[in-house]
Amino acid sequence: MLYIETPTILSEPLSERLGKPVWLKLESMQPSGSFKLRGISVLCQHEVTAGARGLVSSSGGNAGIAVAYVGRKLSIPVRVVVPQSTPLEARKLILAQGAQVTVYGASWYEANTHAQESLASDEAFIHPFDHPLLWQGHGTMIDEVARAGIKPGAVVLSVGGGGLLSGVVAGMQRLGWSDVPVLAMETRGAESFAAAIAAGSAVLLPAITSVASSLGARQVCEQALVSARGHLIISEVISDRAALRGCETLLHEHRILVEPACGAAIAAATRSSVHLADVDSVLIIVCGGVTMTADRLGELLQSI
Ligand SMILES: *Cc1c(COP(=O)(O)O)cnc(C)c1O
Repeated sequence: MLYIETPTILSEPLSERLGKPVWLKLESMQPSGSFKLRGISVLCQHEVTAGARGLVSSSGGNAGIAVAYVGRKLSIPVRVVVPQSTPLEARKLILAQGAQVTVYGASWYEANTHAQESLASDEAFIHPFDHPLLWQGHGTMIDEVARAGIKPGAVVLSVGGGGLLSGVVAGMQRLGWSDVPVLAMETRGAESFAAAIAAGSAVLLPAITSVASSLGARQVCEQALVSARGHLIISEVISDRAALRGCETLLHEHRILVEPACGAAIAAATRSSVHLADVDSVLIIVCGGVTMTADRLGELLQSI
């Protein structure tokens, strides 16, 4: 097992704000800095057991960092193809794990196409959110919450491509938590899940305009829609500013620094979301993220 069992803590300040117990699942404490390590480690280990001699990712964000981390742990070479838009800081984090970074194309779409076309016969491509083994791995965080003796009244998480959502819902279904709704948070300009729910099928957003880059999948995976057909999922879209405020709250109240992608989930408990009015307790998935610094958070809060 390459991911760790993370703490589930009762947030006193957030519970006070919301007037009901608010639990935090601290995925930000995973060695790679985000929940991505759960599913990605399961998928990578599967591919290596099946004979892969190299792993390839096209994510300059937390997925790429998780693949690089797993490759180092398994002594398997990793190539990460990132677009020009990937910040230097993220490239450095991938290089620091010993992975090779190739810069290709203007956006993730071109980098991803190149990564898949350049795949050698003994290399495995590791998708950031669309694979059953990813969902299986992500679902283990719900097992840990249940083992801690907690069954919340609602689960709050953020949605990018829908891998986290699909995994958490699968884990909840497996435990028989069919009566526990999921509040799916997105930022405006990255609302691919809200668009899919409204349309009844996956929609390709014309562009990503939110600062929450880890939510910036232009289209959710099909499994996100399948999950919404079998479980009560409420979609909520908030501003970048509200997500940044969520980051600020977590930093001030718990000394934990996360990306806006994760701040979007925290924001649900700080803005008294109407969707949480009738539930008796809340579990927030603190999904993490490594590309944020305190300085950058301050700058973003000033600029938005
Ligand atoms: C990847 C990621 C998300 C979104 O997860 P999806 O599986 O793409 O929906 C949210 N927050 C952080 C920090 C992430 O790294």
